[in-house]
Amino acid sequence: MKNQRRCVACRQLAGKETFWRFVRLYPSHQVQLDQGMGRSAYLCPNPDCLRVAQKKNRLGHALRTSVPEELYQSLWQRLANPSEMTSPCGDVSESTTCSRSQPL
Ligand SMILES: [Zn+2]
Repeated sequence: MKNQRRCVACRQLAGKETFWRFVRLYPSHQVQLDQGMGRSAYLCPNPDCLRVAQKKNRLGHALRTSVPEELYQSLWQRLANPSEMTSPCGDVSESTTCSRSQPL
């Protein structure tokens, strides 16, 4: 295993190209996507991990700073790109995971 990164939401390990990279810039503590020098965190580019990262502030904890709402908005927009395959779960306001097929 070389240069594996871990998603802050689902803890999955993969190469860094697989993930979105977030960087807390020094010394401003601004959080920036994709580039920059500073403390980094990684997240899978999918709705489930983004939702967890946002709701539980996983990125904020990993980066030890607050993550602005606009950053999450831009990520949701990336996911909403029409060239992406359609998501099976359109309603992101649900707290349950969309992969659950059986009603409880
Ligand atoms: Zn993940």
